[in-house]
Amino acid sequence: MNEMDLFPYRPRSGQREMVEDIATAIRNKQHIIIESGTGTGKTICALVGCLSASLDSHKKILYLTRTNSQQQQVLKELRRINDIRSVYGLGLQGRQSTCPLARRDPELRSGTPEELSKLCTEKKRRTIDELEGGCRFYEQTIATSFDEIERYVFSDIPTVEEFVDYCDRRGICPYELAKELASKATVVTAPYAYFFVQFIRDTLLDWMSVPISDLVVIVDEAHNLPDYAREVKTLSLSRKALRHVEKEVNEFGDLEVLDGVSILDIVSAMDEALDSAVEEYLLDEDGLVPMNFLEERLMHAFTLTSRMLELATRELMVQGEIIRERKKEAGRLPRSYIFSLGAFLNFWMNIEERYYVKLILGGDNPSFESYCLDPSIAAAPLLECAASIHMSGTLSPLVEYRDSLGLPSSSPMKSFPSPFPRRNRRIFFVDDVTTKYEDLAQDEEIVEKIEDYIVNICNGVKRNTVVFFPSFNLLQRFLSDGILYRIKRKVHIEDRGMSQNDLMETVTRFKEGAEQGAVLFAVVGGRVSEGLDFPDRELELAFIVGIPYPKPTAKQRALLHYYEMKFGRGWEYTVRAPAYRRMLQAIGRLIRTDTDIGVAIILDRRAKQFSDRIELELTQDALGDVLRFFEEREKERKVSSEKTKMRKVDTKSSE
Ligand code: SF4
Repeated sequence: MNEMDLFPYRPRSGQREMVEDIATAIRNKQHIIIESGTGTGKTICALVGCLSASLDSHKKILYLTRTNSQQQQVLKELRRINDIRSVYGLGLQGRQSTCPLARRDPELRSGTPEELSKLCTEKKRRTIDELEGGCRFYEQTIATSFDEIERYVFSDIPTVEEFVDYCDRRGICPYELAKELASKATVVTAPYAYFFVQFIRDTLLDWMSVPISDLVVIVDEAHNLPDYAREVKTLSLSRKALRHVEKEVNEFGDLEVLDGVSILDIVSAMDEALDSAVEEYLLDEDGLVPMNFLEERLMHAFTLTSRMLELATRELMVQGEIIRERKKEAGRLPRSYIFSLGAFLNFWMNIEERYYVKLILGGDNPSFESYCLDPSIAAAPLLECAASIHMSGTLSPLVEYRDSLGLPSSSPMKSFPSPFPRRNRRIFFVDDVTTKYEDLAQDEEIVEKIEDYIVNICNGVKRNTVVFFPSFNLLQRFLSDGILYRIKRKVHIEDRGMSQNDLMETVTRFKEGAEQGAVLFAVVGGRVSEGLDFPDRELELAFIVGIPYPKPTAKQRALLHYYEMKFGRGWEYTVRAPAYRRMLQAIGRLIRTDTDIGVAIILDRRAKQFSDRIELELTQDALGDVLRFFEEREKERKVSSEKTKMRKVDTKSSE
């Protein structure tokens, strides 16, 4: 099959090349890393490249996404391909959002995939055995014709939300049906967890009836993967979790886990250990804890050997498992905090120390955390796949991504240029301010100067503007200084911990203010800067306040040290590269189509350290430069629309 046979649009510049690169990588069983910004059509290129190289060899494709809207985009593109050649595509999401029982019950919705899986198995067993406490949706599902559903799914390729609605109207279970349909699908699109969490991956491969060696994996928005992969292998236990253990003991009894040591004794020793760790090791928001700190505290508290402590943690898990079973039989979510306590201690005591650090995290709910430094551990199953494709608009330096994930050094790496006219965007920086911690502490006037830049430009340029702060703390500092009284435009604010609904309402109001030119205060690396689209006039001006270097926490310092030891590039890989990506993500909000125009202003003299990667211009007259940019672009727009009008008139008169 020719690579472009399945391409449903007229290919634009670079798209044929991207499709061919992907297809070649799959044929060569490679892991290709692609940096390609908004508007390059990477979703359709990845699908067509993968399908053209996989269809005849019976491989299956797993397209991993981070958000629902990315998943919807994959399914929409599959519909277009399906018009050319029949390709079965399916979207999957977890039980929390698709199980009809969980969607109607907040307690169930809070369950982990494993807990919901156990509960579901029990409910189905009861349904089949015609016992009380079964699942009415499952009962209806097994009584419904599967053929009709299969025809609907593989001809319409609905989004998960559409499929859930379809099933709701019939009183059947979309999760159970998706399991059945997965074995017939050639392309499955699902969240990252479906591949990087072992228990879920094993289940999915079983549903898809495919060995991992025949699976081609596409990782979308891959710049998220290293952090995600670290989190997957990280475990923590908080003070609140200990309070939940106490509640569970009140309900199920305080059993002994060793002679003379009960569950509550362990909880009390854990509380004391948390207090000591906070006092001895916490600096600001976290602190490194010695590797054997917790074990030694517990052994000392009960005069135990390490072997006895190990037995105690296993006994906690056994007791917890019994509670989970009892809850399951009672039709409740099979969750046990006693089990989680045992599992945490077991994990903490048995981690491979060279890949982990142990931390105390502060705040209102202090916790112990075993933090995984190496994303290549969770990413290792990628190497067992037929091939993988890693794509994002901000992956540079590509070699860092490859090394972090442990992909082979022979992996092809490619950057595709933005298809949008370069003149439509300019990035300025100023050299008389910085948010460098020491400078801010010494010179109070810096904050005033930064504020003056924001206020003067916001008041002088009536266009939708986002001000990206490096942290909520700094955003709050500007608010406390009264910046809102000086800005003569409507200002919207992304609050820390805002619900997704509230954030979307705030963003919608901001977008609706484009005529008058509204302002939005947000943070770099947050939901606004990483995940939202602002096409056309919805965003034309962006401030980046300071360079968004990661905060030098104990966790961050440990990461830097680990990368320095492993690659000799600690600063480059763990400080400079993430800061660069965050800035690019934020600046990338400006231009989403080929007619968008926009200006970014970085308010930090350290920006020039990135001039090898970002096309930066130093400005001594920020307001003037911004106004001139928009004036010039508006003039060009007018000329071009005049020309278009004249061309139309010419065409009509010649007709
Ligand atoms: S069969 Fe479906 S509705 Fe019933 S518990 Fe399982 S996932 Fe939920």
